[in-house]
Amino acid sequence: MTERDAMAEAVRRARSVRGTTAPNPPVGAVLMRGDLVLGGGATHPVGGPHAEVVALAEARAAGHDPRGATMVVTLEPCCHHGRTPPCTDALLAAGVARVIAGAVDPFPRVAGRGLARLREAGVDVVVVDDAAAAALIAPFAKVLATGLPQLECAGNDPEHSYDAVIVDVARPAMAMTLAVRAPPGPAPSAREVWWSDEPEEVLLRRLAAAGRHRVLLDVADLTPWASWLAPATSRDRRPR
Ligand SMILES: [Zn+2]
Repeated sequence: MTERDAMAEAVRRARSVRGTTAPNPPVGAVLMRGDLVLGGGATHPVGGPHAEVVALAEARAAGHDPRGATMVVTLEPCCHHGRTPPCTDALLAAGVARVIAGAVDPFPRVAGRGLARLREAGVDVVVVDDAAAAALIAPFAKVLATGLPQLECAGNDPEHSYDAVIVDVARPAMAMTLAVRAPPGPAPSAREVWWSDEPEEVLLRRLAAAGRHRVLLDVADLTPWASWLAPATSRDRRPR
C-alpha cells in the first residue's frame, strides 16, 4: 500500500465512525512500514483511545513493533491532556519515525503544536492537506471558527445522499448529525445519526422548540426558516 492509499484508508476508517466520536472529530489512522500495513484504527467514543493509539494497539496485537514505522493519520495528532493522554506522547513512546497528517487540527489547544512537538522530537512530519481529510473535520473547524454548525446539502457527501444534515452545536458539533429527510439509499451505520421522515420544517421547528439545537441555514431553499431559529450564542461557541 502506498502512503497515498494509506491516507485513503485512514479517511475510510474515519468516515466509518462519523457520528460516534463526540466531542472529538472522527479521525482515522494507518500504521505502515514500507508498503506493509501494520495496523489501523479510528477514534473510539469519548473516553476511549484516539485513532493513532488504536492503530498502534492493532499493530502490536498483530505482533508488529511500531518502532521506525510511519503513522498516516487524517488529523494532526493531539498534544494536550484531554480525557486521554496526548497522542504525540504515544507516538513518541512507540518510536514512530514518520507521521503523515491529512490536516492540521483547528482546535486551539493543538493547532500545529502536535506537529511541532513531533518535529522537535525528531519525527519526520509531513502535512499533505488531503481534501477528504479536511472534509472530515469541516463541521468541527466551522463551529470553532464561527460558533455556527455546518449544514451539508445533497451531493456534498459522496457516500450518502443526504437531502440535508444539521450539525448540532449545543451538543459537540462535529459528532451529532441529524438527517432532515431520509435519504433514498440505506442509512449509514453511525450510531448517532438519526433519521427522520418528518418534513424539514416540522423537524426544525421541533428542534428549535427543544432549545438544544442551533442550526445554520445557509442554503437558499432553507433560508425562509432561518428567522425563527435562534442563532448560535456565544455560550455555544465553546466546544465541550
Ligand atoms: Zn489524540
